[in-house]
Amino acid sequence: MTVRKLGSATIQKVEEICGPGFKPTRMFPRFDQEAFDAHKSWMVPEHVEPGSGRLVGSVHTWIVKTPHHTILIDTCLGNHKQRQNPGWNNLDTPFLERLKACGCPAESVDFVMCTHLHVDHVGWNTRLENGRWVPTFPNAKYLFARREYAHWEQERKTQGPDVNGGSFDDSVLPVVEAGKAVMIETDHQPDPLLTLRDYPGHTPGSVAVNLSDGDRKACFSGDIMHHPIQVYYPDWSSQFCWDQDLSAKSRRLLLEDCAESGALLCPAHFPGANAGYIKRQGNSFRIEWDR
Ligand SMILES: [Zn+2]
Repeated sequence: MTVRKLGSATIQKVEEICGPGFKPTRMFPRFDQEAFDAHKSWMVPEHVEPGSGRLVGSVHTWIVKTPHHTILIDTCLGNHKQRQNPGWNNLDTPFLERLKACGCPAESVDFVMCTHLHVDHVGWNTRLENGRWVPTFPNAKYLFARREYAHWEQERKTQGPDVNGGSFDDSVLPVVEAGKAVMIETDHQPDPLLTLRDYPGHTPGSVAVNLSDGDRKACFSGDIMHHPIQVYYPDWSSQFCWDQDLSAKSRRLLLEDCAESGALLCPAHFPGANAGYIKRQGNSFRIEWDR
């Protein structure tokens, strides 16, 4: 397991699953084949499956350890959850053992932070115990952006239990009912090294988590981007974005922020090296992988 050191903090990625998913024509409503093909040489096979052309994606969490706290950023899909997507349905992965192998047993987690409340970012918030969903991390406070929570609470009222693939009911509400949830504004600072910033668009309350110790910085960006091609074409919002234009605007802003600050960009679904540094390139950006 790669342990990245940033000042007095460490960062580790723990993968739940990784593999080919959607074709880019389906993923990106603004897809352009010629523009995509211009980057194929470095994307195949790590980021694009040879032959099928499907986008390769990982579902992973980030463990951040500061001198004061152990923080998990995004909690993947979880085990034994009934989902429509066959690749996400009823998983049974040794995710908690993997966390433990990284020196992060469940009881050591102080904070769980979900960048947003989509199904693949909240799953391990809970686990099944005697037929009930209980918080997986018994000593953790779960920090939810108030605006994000309010949005899904409303959606749950109007759409019923199937909202977000059922994850609001089995992975978010049980945490709230157990008294473990803290609704936060984005000026909330859970640790001296961590700050939050709003990047709405993918969902109404999507946030990025920024880690900063002196001149060493990292940005945990959740799903502001799903695939590295979006670094090069920030206007390509995904079909899963709630507001295509607002998402594109936030993506460009986040990339500008990372280029400006020199932060290590740590998205939620990039496979391979998982993280990299953003550089300006003309009217757009490029990524230098942190291998
Ligand atoms: Zn996601």
